Amino acid sequence: MTGEQRQRRSALPAVDRVLRTEETAALVAAYGRPLVVEAVRAELARLRKCGAAASLASIIEECAAALERDLRPSQRRVFNLTGTVLHTNLGRAPLPEEAIGAAIEAMRDPTTLEYDTATGRRGERDNHVAGWLTRLTGAEAALTVNNNAGALVLALNTLAEGRETIVSRGELIEIGGSFRLPDIMARAGTRLREVGTTNRTHLADYADAIGPQTGLVLKVHTSNYAVHGFTAAVPAPKLAELAANRGIPFIEDLGSGSLVDFEVWGLPHEPTAAEALAQGADLVTFSGDKLLGGPQAGLVAGRSELVKRLARNPLKRALRLDKIRLAALEAVLRLYADPGRLVERLPALRLLARPVERIRAAGERLLPTVQRALHGVAEASLVETKSQIGSGALPVSLLPSIALALRPRSHTSGMAVESLARALRALPIPVIGRIEAGRVLLDLRCLEDETAFTEQLGAYSDKIHLS
Ligand SMILES: *Cc1c(COP(=O)(O)O)cnc(C)c1O
Repeated sequence: MTGEQRQRRSALPAVDRVLRTEETAALVAAYGRPLVVEAVRAELARLRKCGAAASLASIIEECAAALERDLRPSQRRVFNLTGTVLHTNLGRAPLPEEAIGAAIEAMRDPTTLEYDTATGRRGERDNHVAGWLTRLTGAEAALTVNNNAGALVLALNTLAEGRETIVSRGELIEIGGSFRLPDIMARAGTRLREVGTTNRTHLADYADAIGPQTGLVLKVHTSNYAVHGFTAAVPAPKLAELAANRGIPFIEDLGSGSLVDFEVWGLPHEPTAAEALAQGADLVTFSGDKLLGGPQAGLVAGRSELVKRLARNPLKRALRLDKIRLAALEAVLRLYADPGRLVERLPALRLLARPVERIRAAGERLLPTVQRALHGVAEASLVETKSQIGSGALPVSLLPSIALALRPRSHTSGMAVESLARALRALPIPVIGRIEAGRVLLDLRCLEDETAFTEQLGAYSDKIHLS
């Protein structure tokens, strides 16, 4: 250490001195004393270590910045401009106000979660939504669990533990992350009996495989890929008939599933739970937060006797929904009772059905602000693009959309584009786009809060630069 460094070090104020300022008192009021003391100590230690001088004001400023950084919630709101509407990593379906209100109320106070006010006795938590689910699907009974993966585990374990579950080779899906059908089946305690080939499976393949060891016949919606060319699959009604004749339950995992026909809104057809049940499935399983547009949940609907068996499995307790999500789910299902207004009230559907002219109009409104904010950093223009539904729904059907295309100026390397994307992600409300052909594309389909978007760009344009 040089003499100069030693002198600077002794010039640093003591912890107490920093804490006795008015500015620090404000930090204590905001964050509490222990965190502020810790931040001051850490900052002084850092300065001492590098032998740097610092004024009292700059020390406090550093502490304030560090506290803000460290206490910011880890899970934060983002702008999903990826073009994937139901983005699993960004939390899938945004919830309608009705569901948000119901969830808040359930969080704040005790509720009738498992309580029957008429008798004063214990009630059943699934009853809050089972009525809506049976009404909307035509099923005899329904139950809910944590997510669709959980619904499948519960169904497989209840109905086929220690026995075989027959699945077509063409349906052995991986959804991403750790959801791979063969692994899920192994954990549920059932033996996978693959039939047919990758591209073609016939009714005889199923019929030949059914024997004394068979517990279940399972059909899985191939939700994130499509097989084209020389293909054959057995229509659900045929499979249902075969299973019924042999006295074996037939289950369809619909994946996304849906409670209404999306074609009404000009969207591609996705099998509905009601259709699958009408075609003979004994049970269907599907997600609450995919096309249904609700909170994360796994929904099971179908024959009452089977639903009862699932409900009695101890795993049901491990997979059950909490009161907050049940309240939100109930509110979402209630919206389905009025399909005419669903597209305005259910955000997931509203975003999926948003006409491209409206998205273009939004782009034209936003373009000048974006050009101003990115002046000297990137050139912004509007381009046509395609959005995806996401979450494994209708993987091959794309929706026409409009994106802001941001091309970094005076940089031609891929690094510049990465750096621009990073700068947008570093904003207080991270802006998440996608990189395509040397540009950052911000698909505007899912941008409804234009005010928050433009205000942020205006306020932080100096923070957007290429590093
Ligand atoms: C998405 C999906 C699942 C898993 O559903 P989660 O709600 O994410 O647990 C299971 N099966 C299929 C066919 C799916 O598309």
